[in-house]
Amino acid sequence: MPSNYPGFRYGADRETFSAAKVKALESLLIEKGVITGDTVDTVLGYFETEMGPFNGARLVARAWVDPAFKELLVTDCNAACEAMDFPEGMSGAEGEHMRIAENTPEVHNVIVCTLCSCYPWPTLGLPPYWFKDPTFRARVVREPRVVLSEFGVELDESVTIKVWDSSAQIRWWVLPMRPPGTEGMSETELAALLTPEAMMGVATVSV
Ligand code: FE
Repeated sequence: MPSNYPGFRYGADRETFSAAKVKALESLLIEKGVITGDTVDTVLGYFETEMGPFNGARLVARAWVDPAFKELLVTDCNAACEAMDFPEGMSGAEGEHMRIAENTPEVHNVIVCTLCSCYPWPTLGLPPYWFKDPTFRARVVREPRVVLSEFGVELDESVTIKVWDSSAQIRWWVLPMRPPGTEGMSETELAALLTPEAMMGVATVSV
């Protein structure tokens, strides 16, 4: 899966090197007085508790059980966010214009930012490392079926794959199909089935 995504052509320790560079940068910024030692922890804590894929999971679970809410989510994602009891500002901060693409038996959607790493922070949190990698960004638009297969998503040839390119203006994510066998589940139970990868289109949801 993601961390050892086979499309990458470099060693598995590259992320460790990046982490070391980030640590060095953080130390310099603290030393120069630009940030304090708490700044990074505060930001990371926010993404662990307030703004993350748990929000997207709740939106999708509600859409699965409430057709009117699904219509709202598909036509106006930000209005759907406003209708939830999310923390203040959850429709802003890198998510001013979010759009969700609905998977169906005929169409499978996958997201990318070919320019950089634009991602719907309010619903999915921070993008994973591989999403920002040039290899993924280049290949998923050129050969999406192959890339999806490398992620373990094998789609029938009859299924159309749509690749949605996010930008600083519009940030895409995916409404996965509700899996069979979940008819009696509560919204909370359904939300627990969802993964960030499923809401990016590089995984499907299973029970
Ligand atoms: Fe970007």
